[in-house]
Amino acid sequence: MTDDQRELMPAVAEMPTRYGTMHLHVFTDHQGKEHVAAVSGDVSGRSEVLCRIHSECLTSEIMGSLRCDCRQQLETALARIGREDGVVIYLRQEGRGIGLANKIRAYALQNQGIDTVDANRLLGLPDDLRCYKLAGRILQDLGVKSVRLLTNNPSKINGLNDAGIPIASHEPLLCDVDGLAQGYLEVKRDRMGHLIPGAWKPDQTQAKKAQ
Ligand SMILES: [Zn+2]
Repeated sequence: MTDDQRELMPAVAEMPTRYGTMHLHVFTDHQGKEHVAAVSGDVSGRSEVLCRIHSECLTSEIMGSLRCDCRQQLETALARIGREDGVVIYLRQEGRGIGLANKIRAYALQNQGIDTVDANRLLGLPDDLRCYKLAGRILQDLGVKSVRLLTNNPSKINGLNDAGIPIASHEPLLCDVDGLAQGYLEVKRDRMGHLIPGAWKPDQTQAKKAQ
């Protein structure tokens, strides 16, 4: 068995969740990090599978941080695949890949009024170290033929294309966020090229849901 094959041999189990019954596939990479694919329904051999690629964010998902919208995005994506079938891939690349300690150092700078991109640069770190190659390999392992990608991030679209996964379509994932995360979303839109509509506000999303 080659290292590549060993790396991709997942542990799999069915699991009841608040979003419905899913199969959890856990993949261990060559660094020993464990990445997860939550799969709802049968996606093997299917095209146009609803897919979200999510990067770990301990501060919002576990600690309840209001600095970003990651937890809301994850929960919204899990609820969507619970209803419509699909895959949520959870990659262990905290802080856009710079790691938790560096992310917290960047937060300390942001507390002084520096935005998220400039904070990383002051620390000598790239804006975004995330890599989506592994997500492509996970989707191949799951037998997914093409995806409908839930994302606001053009680099995820490019990353999956580079990994050989056809993207049938993509649609934005907009969530209701606390006011504190608004500045963070504006930086994502204005400095990182994320596809967040300029006029979008959380309350409009809420109004749409109510209609
Ligand atoms: Zn976050």
